[in-house]
Parts: sequence; C-alpha cells; structure tokens
Amino acid sequence: VKLQRLAIFGAGLIGGSFAAALKQAGAVEHVVGVGRSRANLERALELQVIDTIAIEPRSAVRDAELVLIAVPVQQTEQVLSEIAPHVSASCVITDAGSTKQDVVAAARRALGSSLIRRFVPGHPIAGAERSGVEAASAALYRDRLVVLTPTPDTDGAAIACVRSAWGLCGARLVEMDAKRHDEVFAAVSHLPHALAFALVQMYAARPHAEELVGFAGAGFRDFTRIAGSSPEMWRDICIANRDALLAELDAYLSALQALRHHLAAGDAEALERIFQDARAARSRWLSGPSSD
Ligand code: NAD
Repeated sequence: VKLQRLAIFGAGLIGGSFAAALKQAGAVEHVVGVGRSRANLERALELQVIDTIAIEPRSAVRDAELVLIAVPVQQTEQVLSEIAPHVSASCVITDAGSTKQDVVAAARRALGSSLIRRFVPGHPIAGAERSGVEAASAALYRDRLVVLTPTPDTDGAAIACVRSAWGLCGARLVEMDAKRHDEVFAAVSHLPHALAFALVQMYAARPHAEELVGFAGAGFRDFTRIAGSSPEMWRDICIANRDALLAELDAYLSALQALRHHLAAGDAEALERIFQDARAARSRWLSGPSSD
C-alpha cells in the first residue's frame, strides 16, 4: 500500500510506532494524529511521527484511507462512534487493542452492519512497559507477530490492506478467532502483568518498603519489570478480558496451593520436580521463535 493519509487515534507507544514505521518505509504521505493529551500530540509532531494534529475526530478521518485506533481498549467504542459518520466510503479501520472480543463487540455497536465490514481487529505482540510517543520506535514491530481477528463479515480487501501495512512495519501476521485470542493472551500476557502489579503493590504497602526493596536483586527487577506498565491500559485489559483472566488466575492459585502444600510438608523432591519441569519448558521455549 501507498497511503495518502493515515489517521492515528492515540499517538502513543503503539500508534506512534506504527506511524513511524510506515513513514520510514515510505508508505504514507501524511499522518494525522488525534489524542487526549495535547502535550503528547505536540511531542509527536516534534518527533515527526505525525504531520498534523486534528482537534476534531471528524476532520482527522476525512479523506483518510486507513485509521488506526491505539487507545486504551475501553475507549474504543467512543472513538469508533465519533468517527463512524465521517469516514470516507473506502476507508479501512483497524485497532491495536490487547483484547479482541470486547473490541469486536464495541465495533459492532458503533459501526453498524455496513461499516463493520471494513473494521479489521488487530493486536501487535510488541510493546514495552513505557508509554507515550517518546517511547515510540519505527523498529518496534520488526520481526514481531501481529494477530488479526477478522470476523466472517470482515471484507477481504480490508484485511489485505491491514496485512500489507503491518508487513511494511516488518511484522509477521497471523489470523485467529477473537475468543481464542483472548484465552491465549489471558495466559501469556494478562495474568503475568496482573501478578507483577499485585506483587509490587503488596510490598509497597508494607512499612519500610523502601528498605526492603533496597535489597532486591536482578530476580526481583526481572519479575516486576512489567509492573512499570500503564495502569489505565492494564485496568482496561483486565476488565475487558475478565472471564478468561479469572480462569487463568484460578489455575495459578491452584498451582500456588500445590507449591505451598509441598513447602509446608518440607517435600524437597516435589519442589525440585516442579522447578525442573519449569526450567526445562522455559529453555525449550526460548530456543524457539522469539516472542514478547
Ligand atoms: P500509550 O499510553 O502509549 O498511548 C495511548 C494514547 O491514547 C495516549 O497518548 C492517550 O493520550 C491516547 N488516548 C487515550 N484515550 C483517548 C481517546 N479517547 N481518544 C484519543 N486518544 C486517546 O499506550 P500504548 O501502549 O500505545 O497502548 C495503546 C493500545 O495498544 C492499548 O489498547 C493497548 O492495549 C494496546 N497494546 C499495547 C501494548 C504495549 O505493550 N504497550 C502492546 C500491544 C497492544
């Protein structure tokens, strides 16, 4: 694709990186950014990630051939409702939200039965615990996976357009069902983030927390890195994917109970078996294709 005009709602880490990558690939003439934070948009302009700031959603999408929604997932419906009456007849709309069933349901409500065909739900499996356009990079999606979860209604040409744009960012694409997507990411992403937040918050609430954490080494830093992520974004993800996350959380609580049981019983062999299995599995995975 060669786009004349791309509109980005939420020119933060994810939206900003998409725009920067397409610009670097020479695949877009003009990027217009829409956001909630004026300071972030002005920084995006300075960094030349976007070319203009649109105050009104309607002026942003006028003549845009592609619209990317990269805002916290609970904001998706409002943004889609605002732009639905104003997009051009051939405009393709996509998103980068970390959850997909809620986004698809929001899109159905906001876009109606005709425009929904041109909405391609997507989720780049790349990111960082940093947010805002300052953290954006044209290289963020290189060799990373992007999951698309089109519905049977999604137009084939719209899917092809979005695939091609992500391909120009250097990403590899896979398509899957939205429900399966949400189950998979509850396990490999949403639960680990919730655990990291809970662990850090538990220690932070203790008296002398600073002193305690002052003794922490690399293990604590590695385990808790993702607790530096955006609280608003993760609030939305957890609520949106509540059922799948609850199922994974319950499974983890059972695993912790089993560990606790072995520990209380002083069963060194059982503990070692769990640690051995986990280490072997992890080293098998890490020698496979890279992922985040
Ligand atoms: P970010 O905070 O860097 O950027 C989000 C931007 O959206 C902010 O600039 C904010 O001002 C803006 N915004 C919020 N509400 C808005 C609204 N109603 N209209 C317009 N702009 C609005 O966050 P991010 O990391 O870029 O995440 C964006 C989306 O991408 C989220 O849905 C998140 O689930 C998804 N995602 C994030 C990661 C990651 O690792 N950070 C990875 C994959 C997908």
